[in-house]
Amino acid sequence: MPFAKRLDQVETSAIRELFKLLGKPGIISFAGGFPDSAMFDVEGLCQASEAALRHEPGAALQYGATEGYQPLREQLARFMAHKGAQDVAPEGLIVTTGSQQALDLIGKTLIDPGDKVIVEGPTFLATIQCFRLYGAELVSAPIDADGVQVDRLEQLIQQHRPKLVYLIPTFGNPSGATLSLARRRRVLELAARYQTVVVEDDPYGDLYFGEAPPPSLLALSHEVPGSRDWLVHCGSLSKVLAPGLRVGWLVAPPELLARATMCKQFSDAHTSTFAQATAAQYLQAGRMPATLAHVRAVYAERARAMGDALRGELGAAIDFVQPRGGLFVWARLTGADGGVADGREFARRAIGQGVAFVPGTPFFCAEPDHATLRLSFATADVDRIREGVARLGRALHAAPALQEA
Ligand code: PMP
Repeated sequence: MPFAKRLDQVETSAIRELFKLLGKPGIISFAGGFPDSAMFDVEGLCQASEAALRHEPGAALQYGATEGYQPLREQLARFMAHKGAQDVAPEGLIVTTGSQQALDLIGKTLIDPGDKVIVEGPTFLATIQCFRLYGAELVSAPIDADGVQVDRLEQLIQQHRPKLVYLIPTFGNPSGATLSLARRRRVLELAARYQTVVVEDDPYGDLYFGEAPPPSLLALSHEVPGSRDWLVHCGSLSKVLAPGLRVGWLVAPPELLARATMCKQFSDAHTSTFAQATAAQYLQAGRMPATLAHVRAVYAERARAMGDALRGELGAAIDFVQPRGGLFVWARLTGADGGVADGREFARRAIGQGVAFVPGTPFFCAEPDHATLRLSFATADVDRIREGVARLGRALHAAPALQEA
């Protein structure tokens, strides 16, 4: 087939390869990047979908507007207002087929081949792949437990004049890191000063375990004059409600929103009206606060169990910051006590012991830290987490796995 040259920029994800191994019976998986299906509010979604079909069958089953189903846009604007972004009008956002589509639309509307794009090192793998498909040259900005290092980010902006900066400021995937309040203000100042688009990808901000994280860049943008003109925000119901709904949204300056809408029209015409009407009914029914309280409590318990087990079983061999939200522990092997120090080798040995996770290497667009790994605590219950981490402890000193042919 005479495939387009842009496909040369991307490869099948190393993670997908790993997922093939997960079918092995008895494997405990910390590898996924998804919520626990056992926590879906099935009853609430049954009622919402029934209401969508009974009360508005024309809207729920007919073609709809590319921008999104108006009652859902209104509900999403309200949802964001509760979280501090009070000035987003329903017309200031479009509904997308997951926030993944929002990222694709950002790539499609902004990135020309050869454009520089700054991302965090590490960052969300699908964003790396998506932006590369549009020919972006990715530049990696270092992070620490407080998110992206803003002094370094400023230098990189000056040096590369990027088309955009992509950040996951709250409970990042895979890093779990959260950008501090002071750094959030600095990022907004940089956007305004250098007239650089900053994309805030925020699917995890609602999944906090104790104290709420600092307000989103979107919510803070009114404090920093001029920043809103350069700010793009992606939201999603995937991690808090259900990814199968494929309901995400994009908030952006009007010109960008109009062009993204045009591109969406050529792609899927609109996000499933049935899913949108169901989501609108769900939000309107007022079930979200209880759902959020439930998922926060369950993930908090699992995160605690995983942190305690890692400290108990792996001790000095592993270094990590206890997550305060999100779905992931991002860890670094220290090599202490002669334990394995490469995340990829550790992943192979772990599979041999019946436990899976994702090595950190693929999450870096450049200069990967091979000692890193991502462990999801979302889908296993506390007992399975303890057992899985005990297996990790055994894998640490297990004989090297046979190299694949
Ligand atoms: N951004 C980040 C950081 C993610 O982790 C994910 C899902 N893993 C997405 C975007 C896409 O989510 P969705 O398309 O389901 O909204």
